[in-house]
Amino acid sequence: MRKNFFNPPETYVDVLLAGTHLFPRMKKFFDATESLKKRLGSEVVRTDAEACFAASFDNTKLSFLPEAVIFPRDESDVETVLREANKNGVPVCVRGAGTGTTAAAAPVCGGWVISFAEWTQLEIDADAGTATVQPGVVTQKINDAAAAHGLFYPPDPASVKHCTIGGNIATNAGGLHAAKYGVTRDYVLALEGFLPTGEKVRWGGAVKKYVSGYNLRDLWIGSEGMLGVITRATLRLVPRPETKHTFLCAFADDASALRAAQDLSRERIVPSVCEFLDTVSVDCAERYSGKKFFEKTSAVLLVEVDGDAESVPAQAERVRAWARSRATAFRETSDAEEAESLWEVRRICSQSMFLLADSKLNEDVAVPAKNFVPLLEAMRNVTGETGLATPIFGHAADGNLHVHVMFHRDNEQERQAAQVAIRRVMETVVALDGVITGEHGIGLAKSPFLAIQHSSAEIAAMLAVKKALDPNDILGRGKMFTPFNVWDCVPVDVKLPWDKKKVAR
Ligand SMILES: Cc1cc2nc3c(=O)[nH]c(=O)nc-3n(C[C@H](O)[C@H](O)[C@H](O)COP(=O)(O)OP(=O)(O)OC[C@H]3O[C@@H](n4cnc5c(N)ncnc54)[C@H](O)[C@@H]3O)c2cc1C
Repeated sequence: MRKNFFNPPETYVDVLLAGTHLFPRMKKFFDATESLKKRLGSEVVRTDAEACFAASFDNTKLSFLPEAVIFPRDESDVETVLREANKNGVPVCVRGAGTGTTAAAAPVCGGWVISFAEWTQLEIDADAGTATVQPGVVTQKINDAAAAHGLFYPPDPASVKHCTIGGNIATNAGGLHAAKYGVTRDYVLALEGFLPTGEKVRWGGAVKKYVSGYNLRDLWIGSEGMLGVITRATLRLVPRPETKHTFLCAFADDASALRAAQDLSRERIVPSVCEFLDTVSVDCAERYSGKKFFEKTSAVLLVEVDGDAESVPAQAERVRAWARSRATAFRETSDAEEAESLWEVRRICSQSMFLLADSKLNEDVAVPAKNFVPLLEAMRNVTGETGLATPIFGHAADGNLHVHVMFHRDNEQERQAAQVAIRRVMETVVALDGVITGEHGIGLAKSPFLAIQHSSAEIAAMLAVKKALDPNDILGRGKMFTPFNVWDCVPVDVKLPWDKKKVAR
């Protein structure tokens, strides 16, 4: 039976039938949970199947059941949970909205999940150009609140309507506007929260310059909830762009589109958006929508420039000149509604890929612009050798191209080919001076590849930091440093709020 996110299983037996993984339940964890429940109350410490199941997985749908989900009322609850966890050796996972794509928020070793879903306070200081937020604020809401003051919070992961700022900071999330505006790290001024051992700390401040002591604020950003629990953040806001101009450009082939993207910086064009879609992705989007975006199905670049009303026409003229000399065709507009029709191909390409197979590995790799074409060639070789489709789309201006390997989950040969292919992709990316993850992080899903990216000295340094801040290995136990084979797990069959309808082949 298909289980809905809002209609979870009733009992642990149901949970097991739903395919979740139950960490061997330890009496020690059980006793510690009962004692915590007595201390904080059963509204704060929930052990019912509904709460535990909902907190057992993220967007990967790899489910691991915790002992309890904690909904802290205040900071003192957070401190109590961490101190009790350290006393009893109980692992703790921190959870935002669970949109993560690496199982970083999944309690793979059981234990307790701290959920910040109800921590949604948000305050804008328009004079200072800052937002002070609790970790459970949904990212889109920060931007909506900033807009009322003519301000802008630029980091906009595609999950912006669902994900939380706590999760964004812990993964250093990027988004479509990273090309011009940067990623989450570029907007975090100060963080407050707790060390894994339960001491309250504050890193950074609401000032532009801050060089007192080691920069542990930046160490927390992107540390995937393994070095501290964020309970408050002060974010920098920037003036809201007044207007934008959008171009959709078609190219003779995939490599020409990628070379044209490289040329943008040579032409001193700083687009706010530059999204690449290869011919396979565009073909899927055209079949899915029943529309032709250009006369001939071609690789495209979606390029946008933004700013004030005076500067945007001049920027648009530069893009026009760039497009005239490189694209086979292009469309452009400064009208917001028309721009939506140019964006359509990008908005639908992800779900339309299921025309190729029922399962997709989406790898958020990044390589320097000079290596875009070698990466493309490597992906085409993977297709040649395995027969699996490898569509590519993503953020060309910052090198964060999302490469995909499509396969049929029930076809053992394809499953095995996909596993081999993905390791090859990781090795290739590192050989091309790139990184195995540009925005999603390591979590469980990419843990087998950490040693491809980093030397043993680098990993030892990271482990030394982890050990110093979290001597009992409480936060995010089992993640990042312990290679985990996701192929041993079957994802649970649930529909999440952000899931789009899959298409039939
Ligand atoms: C449809 C879709 C599109 C996406 N597009 C993008 C994209 O464009 N760019 C991008 O970067 N990502 C993207 N993602 C991935 C995901 O949305 C991001 O990683 C996001 O930052 C996770 O936020 P969350 O609130 O869901 O965190 P969760 O998934 O709940 O947790 C993610 C990590 O953050 C930690 N964490 C959460 N809250 C805290 C806290 N208060 N203190 C300490 N640690 C904490 C967790 O322990 C975990 O390690 C996408 C996901 C989906 C489903």
